Amino acid sequence: ANRFISRPIVATIHTDAFRHNLGRIRELAPESKIWSVVKAKAYGHSLEAAFKGLESTDGFALLDLADAQWLRDHGWEGRILLLEGLFSQQELERVIRLRCDLVVHSEKQVVWLESLKNYSGHPINIFLKLNSGMNRLGFRPAEYRTAFHRLHAAGYHLHHMTHFANADQVERSPSVGEQMECFNQTTEGLEAPSSLANSAAILWHRNALGDWIRPGILLYGVSPTGVHADIVRSEFQAVMSLRSEIIDIQNLKKGDYVGYGGRYEAPEDMRIGVIAGGYADGYPRHAEDGTPVWVDAADTQGDGVICPIVGRVSMDMLTIDLREAPNAKIGSVVELWGNEVPVDDVAQMSGTIGYELICALAQRVPVLTD
Ligand code: PLP
Repeated sequence: ANRFISRPIVATIHTDAFRHNLGRIRELAPESKIWSVVKAKAYGHSLEAAFKGLESTDGFALLDLADAQWLRDHGWEGRILLLEGLFSQQELERVIRLRCDLVVHSEKQVVWLESLKNYSGHPINIFLKLNSGMNRLGFRPAEYRTAFHRLHAAGYHLHHMTHFANADQVERSPSVGEQMECFNQTTEGLEAPSSLANSAAILWHRNALGDWIRPGILLYGVSPTGVHADIVRSEFQAVMSLRSEIIDIQNLKKGDYVGYGGRYEAPEDMRIGVIAGGYADGYPRHAEDGTPVWVDAADTQGDGVICPIVGRVSMDMLTIDLREAPNAKIGSVVELWGNEVPVDDVAQMSGTIGYELICALAQRVPVLTD
């Protein structure tokens, strides 16, 4: 209400959908505890909204200590896992003050932790990260056991952790099976709880969950594969609805061109709707002609109508073909993604995956919770 700009674009975060998705994950992995992954401002949904919807999680996993601070300031007493952090020894003090659990993935972090002598605060839980084949972060198998023993000797409470590169596709290497073999061999005889599965593993590799699972994308009701159909049967619900309005209408003549580069040429006389929403809002500029936009039922016959994008998405606006929505008018509500248009579908038409679109929601778009 206090905004100076009254553009109609708004992202609404459905708190109930968060609760529902967390509940579905618990049903899929009833034996595991859940780290709700809320890095990158809860994948664009805002930490505030995620905290409201995911209060019954076992812990929050994030990247930014400022976010950990925010959770503590707002009353979260439960566990927080710093997924990638500890970039300097100085940060340890904040980590301890904020009572964070730590992912440890490098030799220098082990040295910093060993140097923490005479520490008498709350016990620090460490999730020691094994590079079991993804080759991003983590100790290689040959170094992992040494790191484990050193941290154990220094008095830390240890967990085994690894991350899968291909839990969403079977034909790629390293497979979950190969990574699990490496994990089991490397950790053999080292008693500790484990943290393994991301969203795709929760859906498709029920034998590779671990004591603590780390779902991100499924909490938000978006597909880990990039294909919406892959999660339809699992009944996850979109948490974010990005909605706006038609702010102008153009009556085109056959042969008129639309937008920068004149990418679309009208095949006949037709109406197009101009929508307040462009790449500066986080809508992908690469969206092809045909990318679906939903126009509200109030101004269309029936349940609302999908109208395709025509012409290139620009900074603040995009344009849609209104031939299927003869009653649409200035002020008609549209959904750019959400329940009517899966963000996965927009992403597919733009050469990316839903993760990137939700995370890239621009700061200037107001985020409301319902
Ligand atoms: N665990 C780690 C270490 C991650 O980096 C991520 C996100 O990339 C996740 C879990 C959550 O992954 P997803 O959103 O695919 O469930």
